[in-house]
Amino acid sequence: MKPFHPTPKTLMGPGPSDVPARILEAMARPTVGHLDPQFITLMDEIKSLLRFAFQTENPLTFPVSAPGSAGMETCFVNLIEPGDTVVVCVNGIFGGRMVENVTRAGAIAVVISDEWGKPVDPQKVEDTLKAHPEATILAFVHAETSTGVLSDAKTLCALAREHDCLTIVDAVTSLGGVPVKVDEWGVDAIYSGTQKCLSVPPGLSPISFGPRAIAAVEARITPVQSWFLDLSLVMNYWEGANPKSNARSYHHTAPINAMYALHEGLLMLHEEGLETAFARHQTQHEALRDGLENLGFSFLVEADYRLPQLNTVCIPERVTDEAAIRKTLLENHNLEIGAGLGALAGKVWRIGLMGASASPANVEKCLGALKQELG
Ligand SMILES: *Cc1c(COP(=O)(O)O)cnc(C)c1O
Repeated sequence: MKPFHPTPKTLMGPGPSDVPARILEAMARPTVGHLDPQFITLMDEIKSLLRFAFQTENPLTFPVSAPGSAGMETCFVNLIEPGDTVVVCVNGIFGGRMVENVTRAGAIAVVISDEWGKPVDPQKVEDTLKAHPEATILAFVHAETSTGVLSDAKTLCALAREHDCLTIVDAVTSLGGVPVKVDEWGVDAIYSGTQKCLSVPPGLSPISFGPRAIAAVEARITPVQSWFLDLSLVMNYWEGANPKSNARSYHHTAPINAMYALHEGLLMLHEEGLETAFARHQTQHEALRDGLENLGFSFLVEADYRLPQLNTVCIPERVTDEAAIRKTLLENHNLEIGAGLGALAGKVWRIGLMGASASPANVEKCLGALKQELG
């Protein structure tokens, strides 16, 4: 066996996205101890940069040492006690995973279903919250990566507040690609991932908990069933038991070099500015859309709630073997695009323009390769 040297690929699927060389280089810097004072300083900067990205002042904002799914689980296991009722909006794969989290935590899931390709319907949410005054949480996916749909997080959070529910928001695909305004919208608990619009390798899950969510964690009667994800324990590492002393205690060994990458990726976002990053995703989406429509593709999702960073297109009928085309794109063009999931498998492609992948060069490459392979 020899050292592993993968062929560089252009990543235009549903994540991971292209990782800039600057971030990869950051990862190659010397590993230090996980309680080294220099590393503690880095942790504080990561927390502060994440607050910038999430547009929040929440002190409890940090990356969970595992991918987006672990951020999801952190939110659910810390905020749910057995027997609770949780309203979950399902309009794609990831809403379905939220239901799994709720039932495995011993709570009752009240599911609101919307068609794949449509956003969460606020009217249904309002009716359901009225019908279930016992519900304590409303959970929904802001940007559904399985379909390419953006839901109206601001309206949904306002409805939850009116009905005395906390919110759990999945922002794995939205963070860094479209506005995510945690404080302005009154989000209580939110999680994201590194490998989508932050363009950082997978493996970490930024989360943020607001004051109401923290109060709910503090008021728990039963212990959190997950030791690793129990916020009351992990916080001693990220904040210290006594925030004033700034002394951190061992909880787990943080993935040190992955944190270097996240720090670098967040610095790049900070340098670019949130509004500029959002505008770049939108501009590249429009260029890709025009090119795809010229090639005969139509979009699954209506323009009003379409995600710029995840373009779900219906595969034209003249394409008889869509998997073969994706294979050719990967083998002959080193280009990865995403397949459809669930009921959409074989019917759509999901073309990502996430983070650094949202570039004119990528749009041109993708359109050129598709034109060549589809004839
Ligand atoms: C990718 C994704 C996840 C899961 O993240 P992992 O890092 O793969 O665990 C969750 N929710 C949404 C909306 C996603 O796109």
